[in-house]
Amino acid sequence: MKKLIDSYDREVNYIRVSVTERCNFRCQYCMPEKPFSWVPKENLLSFEDMFEFMKVCIDEGINKIRITGGEPLLREDLDKFIKMIYDYEPTIDLAMTTNAYLLKGAAQKLKDAGLKRINVSIDTLIPEVAEKIAQKDVLKNVLDGVDEALRVGLKVKVNMVPMKGMNDNEILDVLEYCKARGMTVRFIEYMENVHASVDIKGMKSDELLALISERYSYKDEGLENQSPSHYYSTEDGYRFGIIEPYKDDFCSTCNRIRITAEGDLIPCLYFDEAMSIREAIRKGDIKTAAAVLKEVVRTKPEKNRWSEEDGESSSRAFYETGG
Ligand code: SAM
Ligand code: SF4
Repeated sequence: MKKLIDSYDREVNYIRVSVTERCNFRCQYCMPEKPFSWVPKENLLSFEDMFEFMKVCIDEGINKIRITGGEPLLREDLDKFIKMIYDYEPTIDLAMTTNAYLLKGAAQKLKDAGLKRINVSIDTLIPEVAEKIAQKDVLKNVLDGVDEALRVGLKVKVNMVPMKGMNDNEILDVLEYCKARGMTVRFIEYMENVHASVDIKGMKSDELLALISERYSYKDEGLENQSPSHYYSTEDGYRFGIIEPYKDDFCSTCNRIRITAEGDLIPCLYFDEAMSIREAIRKGDIKTAAAVLKEVVRTKPEKNRWSEEDGESSSRAFYETGG
């Protein structure tokens, strides 16, 4: 079995696949306004072409694939793409990150196609706050989508981005909502970026933990193997996570690369560097596509740039890279 190993001896076995940069939400921290221009349709990789590259990745040692976006459920025939991957390698850990707005009507089809797990973004349980964050009345669809995903047997995790003065009074409510349904919640520290609304104030892990400790005592479980999340467990055994990209050890076990919907392969979310596999895949040149994959893994940086005081992080948007 082949393995992809980077220059810092980390095994890269996980790819995040953005299938579209488009989105039906306008989250304040991600895409508050419709971008000036979208990727031209002719630049998008077809699912057939993306699947050809997924085969290359799997053959070289990738064993976890996460579909993301933009909003992946906006892309037609997503279930067919998932089924292609599943049929090629049923043991692949196949997951998706979604805002869940369209999930109710799609969950069963996705599960039947081979999807195993989803992460859903839920920043609030108050309809008006959801409307403020996403700039659209979204909450009912999102919560119905989550119920349906659980009903069809998908494993569900929840991502929440806590923001001061916006949803910081709901940390415990979202935790309780997830706990009651057997879903892990992960609080993601807001990552500053040039595309977000300027007045957002994120929250750091110590502030979050202080709020949680008002209701729960918890045990620190540390970083989970290759997950970006630091986990904690409450006395009654519920596990929740905090994703802290600013922390020093955040990158030490990084096992992932990303591909955009137009075929740019990205070694690190926080760097502008990328190499395209689009032309090679379109020509059926599998050898070149595999060589680009290996080169991107080889050049994966040791650390992201968030903690460097004078560092410039990537100008690429989260909705392009899939977060
Ligand atoms: N549209 C899908 C969704 O919202 O789940 C998938 C794509 S979205 C870019 C992936 C994840 O990135 C979401 O959980 C979202 O909360 C997170 N995200 C986006 N912008 C962020 C930011 N500035 N800071 C922290 N997390 C962010
Ligand atoms: Fe869309 Fe997800 Fe970005 Fe929100 S976080 S704008 S749902 S891509």
